[in-house]
Amino acid sequence: MRIPIGSVTPASGTAEVVGWVHEVRDLGGLAFFLIRDRTGIIQVTIPKKKASEAVLAAAKAVSRESVVRVAGAVKAIDKAPGGRELVPELFEILNMCESPLPLDVVEKVPADLDTRLDARFLDARRPRVTAVFQIRSAAMHAINTFFFNRGFININTPKIVAAATEGGTELFPIAYFDKEAFLNQSPQLYKQMMMAAGFEKVYEIGPIFRAEEHNTTKHLNEATSIDIEVSFIDHHGVMHILEDLIVHTYQHVHDNCSYQLANLGCTDFAVPKAPFPRLLYSDAIAIAQKKIEEPIKYGDDIGSAAERVIGAEMGGHYFIVDWPTEIRPYYAMPYEHDPSICKAFDLMHPRMELASGAERVHQHDLLVQQIRKKGLNPESFEFYLRPFRFGMPPHAGWGLGAERLIMTMLGLSNVREAVLFPRDMHRLVP
Ligand code: ATP
Ligand code: MG
Repeated sequence: MRIPIGSVTPASGTAEVVGWVHEVRDLGGLAFFLIRDRTGIIQVTIPKKKASEAVLAAAKAVSRESVVRVAGAVKAIDKAPGGRELVPELFEILNMCESPLPLDVVEKVPADLDTRLDARFLDARRPRVTAVFQIRSAAMHAINTFFFNRGFININTPKIVAAATEGGTELFPIAYFDKEAFLNQSPQLYKQMMMAAGFEKVYEIGPIFRAEEHNTTKHLNEATSIDIEVSFIDHHGVMHILEDLIVHTYQHVHDNCSYQLANLGCTDFAVPKAPFPRLLYSDAIAIAQKKIEEPIKYGDDIGSAAERVIGAEMGGHYFIVDWPTEIRPYYAMPYEHDPSICKAFDLMHPRMELASGAERVHQHDLLVQQIRKKGLNPESFEFYLRPFRFGMPPHAGWGLGAERLIMTMLGLSNVREAVLFPRDMHRLVP
């Protein structure tokens, strides 16, 4: 029976493995192959004098990245990966790979990101790329478990919608029979409506679509958002949930992904400690004013340059809290004592923003007033406003970008590295 390459040890005695031909080396009397699957790499050694005709014929014909089945005796050997090698009695080519390869899987020639993404199926054979997606999968598992254990209800809200969440211009229009429709930029309005349904704690992990003409290393046009909404809790409460989630996710990856972290060269993977510092928006602006050249003043958004200098000063994850009401969405709750600031926050990694959240406005009339103040028409939000007239509890929530979480966790230089098939202004295929 075949076993994963990562589980083959000298104690296995004999083993059958399947995988891709990672490398081929011929040393006269001996032929060496490295065979790779998603769990590891094993050396296959063929002593030409002792091997069967069939094994020799297959070994001679096979090309790199062909799919093979190999079975034989496992022997301990110091110099091979994992301290063992396989001496085959069977060497079967399941499917031959063409050459030349569009992309070098062994990474001797570093390819640029575009070439890699064009041949993503080959790129993802690289152990360090496989590792990113195995870790992403483990992180998502940890996140689902975290919410399940805390009694959250997992929901799915529509991605085809009639109106913008924030009335912005950043939507992809789509053809929907005879109506105007869009791809949703966020589950915001729907997750809030489920508070009126009495669901109390909901989360959704799903795609968000932003038609922004960004060309940065941290923006995608299709991203994955981890969203929560919780009733009878304020902004402090949901910030606690968020920092606990971050710590839990890092810890799970730390405890379960050592092989993948090693493949990525993350030898000093550190789990952050909660609570994260809370930095007032006004203090964040003051730091930026001292450290960046371009002018920035109270009331401005915190751009990338400011994010970086503030992040360098903070050193680890932190929150920016108490934002001017004017620069946050209409659904963020203003402070009673000073409505010019609101109960909104951003979770920051030293490199960039990871999440945005707030305590929400739950009073119908205040919400209508805030929608108007943003220059939007409350009538186009009727479906959203209606639940606020029929028993909407106080609530709060946030949205966390999954790709940015993985990107910052693993020190990836581009957010596109954290998505299998990124969508950006120039990339629609594959
Ligand atoms: P930024 O200011 O960095 O563009 P944002 O404030 O517009 O982000 P939000 O609307 O607050 O983003 O979305 C919540 C989270 O979703 C962000 O903190 C981020 O992690 C993620 N996110 C939003 N837009 C994108 C995008 N275009 N690409 C990747 N992740 C995104
Ligand atoms: Mg934001």
